[in-house]
Amino acid sequence: MITIREDVFPNLPERLKGLEEMANNMWWSWHPAARNLYKALNRIAWKESGHNPVRMLREFPRSLCETAMRNPEYLALYDRVLDQFHREKDSEDHCFSENFSGLCGEAVAFFSAEYALHHSLPFYAGGLGFLAGDYLKECSDLKVPLVAIGFMYPEGYVHQRIREDGWQESMDEVLDRDAASISRVLKNSGEQLVVRIPFMDPPIYVAVWKVAVGRIPLYLMDTDIEINDPWNRKISCRLYIGGLEERLRQEIVLGIGGAEVLNTLGIHQTVVHLNEGHPAFALLELIRQRMERGMTQEEAFRSVRSTSIFTTHTPVPAGHDVFPFHLMEKYFSRYWPALGMDHDSFMRLGMHPEQPAEGFNMTVLALRLTDFHNAVSRRHGEVTRRMWQSLWPELPVEQAPIDHITNGIHVPTWIEPKMELLFNRYLGKDWLAEHDQEEVWKKIADIPDSELWQTHYWLKVKLINTIREQIRRRWVRDRIHSSLVLAGGTLLDPYVLTLGFARRFATYKRADLIFHSLERLKKTLGNRWRPVQIIFAGKAHPDDDAGKQVLQRIFNAARDPELYGRIAFVEDYGEQTAQYMVHGVDVWLNNPLPPMEASGTSGMKAALNGVPHLSIPDGWWLEGWNGHNGWTFGKEEMEGSRDQADAEDFYRILEETIVPLFYMTDAAGTPKDWVRVMKESIRSNAPRFSTRRMVKEYRDKFYRKALKNV
Ligand SMILES: *Cc1c(COP(=O)(O)O)cnc(C)c1O
Repeated sequence: MITIREDVFPNLPERLKGLEEMANNMWWSWHPAARNLYKALNRIAWKESGHNPVRMLREFPRSLCETAMRNPEYLALYDRVLDQFHREKDSEDHCFSENFSGLCGEAVAFFSAEYALHHSLPFYAGGLGFLAGDYLKECSDLKVPLVAIGFMYPEGYVHQRIREDGWQESMDEVLDRDAASISRVLKNSGEQLVVRIPFMDPPIYVAVWKVAVGRIPLYLMDTDIEINDPWNRKISCRLYIGGLEERLRQEIVLGIGGAEVLNTLGIHQTVVHLNEGHPAFALLELIRQRMERGMTQEEAFRSVRSTSIFTTHTPVPAGHDVFPFHLMEKYFSRYWPALGMDHDSFMRLGMHPEQPAEGFNMTVLALRLTDFHNAVSRRHGEVTRRMWQSLWPELPVEQAPIDHITNGIHVPTWIEPKMELLFNRYLGKDWLAEHDQEEVWKKIADIPDSELWQTHYWLKVKLINTIREQIRRRWVRDRIHSSLVLAGGTLLDPYVLTLGFARRFATYKRADLIFHSLERLKKTLGNRWRPVQIIFAGKAHPDDDAGKQVLQRIFNAARDPELYGRIAFVEDYGEQTAQYMVHGVDVWLNNPLPPMEASGTSGMKAALNGVPHLSIPDGWWLEGWNGHNGWTFGKEEMEGSRDQADAEDFYRILEETIVPLFYMTDAAGTPKDWVRVMKESIRSNAPRFSTRRMVKEYRDKFYRKALKNV
């Protein structure tokens, strides 16, 4: 019933029509050879499009294609890449073929409020989105038959600008739906598919869009359509909107709407996987649908539980949505009768046994209505079992049925292409295809130290050049004050030991920790013979004034000559800046307040590229650190305030261990002992903290079991 219209680019000659087809599938984003096909047509057009082939092709003159058409090398590459694209995308088999031969396209439905696939698709805020985006890509690579559900967020992208007083301002960018790899899902009649959310009054409708992620379809819901009344049109306008009621309405659309979209698309027989609690209402709707199809209430609950997986992502209490009962009544009083429930039995589904009066808790709902649940690192597993133990009062804490599967990163996405070429030379040509096998990485030892160092140094120069170019443009375009130009990274020096700190400015991440000992900071940065510089980047949530104050403090330090011009703050942190930073700094710094970092993933991206991690013992690093592959500072557990102690420990390890190691070079300028840490960082972390290892764990621990109950 559903067909997808592909965009038409009139200027593309027939011989190169595959470029259009490939532009409409995010597959290009993690295959450098595919990206090179666009880049090779014209470097300037590629750059100006923001590395977005759809935008590039829309404006591309036919005359420029002629050169490529006459170039046999280009055409050979084109044919090879297109052939690989079709082989991977169209192959019919999937990872469950042996055990579940009857399964067709969709075995698992994945729900998430955000997806970070590429900066041209602004459907993310931070780590949760990157995790989900990387997950879809890896499911495509591993042929996991999965369909994903999310939101469109037409006003999704919030750009960050720093004012002259160091205060963060936001600038919204409206998504141009026609200049990204997104298509409308159409009905046979040619109109876009629009789905009504069951039981909501006044009615709420969503238009359905699709992003192809290799083999994986990602369906996105958009409430910004005329048929909705104005308040409802705004539901999906941006991520995690302000007030509680808006938030509730958003989660109703994500969960109930998402389940209804699947139903309309004819996708019924699936396992359901919830990425965090936001989409947990989907479980209610799946129960309702089963009852409508004739199951008893008890059968429907059992059926949904035994086929559903819930992954919880944060130990920060504010990260778990709790809605007041009066709001739940307002939206669900027509809904609970359809589940055969009354007010009290319905509300009990979301009540925390220890704080029943607090409201309707989405994590409690998700834990109650799924048989499979997990946290995202070993430590986070312990913390999560303690947090939710009261849901299983008969069991001791350590037996609370919450497993853990440690997060990972999608290696083809986060490996820098030049580093990939180096690995191709020394790890064997199949290393990428087998990158979760530990043996593959032993050959890292064969890379000559100087070659690894030269590659890294080149990436560091590239990072610094990119930062300078970004701030030069701001200076020219917006006439910003010259002190902002300096703070933005003009003074960075590629010879200097460079630390990177980039993440959301949530308070628990303690971005300003190292400013606790200002004198010590000055001494270290200003060391005449062995200086240190630090590059910061990150956004505070638009409603988070505390986060903005932290940011302001750091920004003002960046333009304070007392700190020797050794601190830079790079505006508008997003996927692109993250790529440059995790590839190009020397050390990746992470100092959250333990145990608040459930996992963290940016350090994994750095480690894969030979940038060692310097971190507080928290999240993934408790599993990752082996004593030789980076550094740990601060204690795991501590009573009371710990900022001062952690900051002092940071300076101790920086001055005593890291700085001397970095500046000790051989006659040719290679810091051999440093390179040993780089190699160990890659060898030990790359296979284990990959999304490939992670998807395989979900597949083998959860999906296979749950599929038996479908
Ligand atoms: C990887 C990534 C994150 C998540 O990093 P954490 O270590 O979990 O904070 C956030 N933002 C961007 C742009 C990223 O690339």
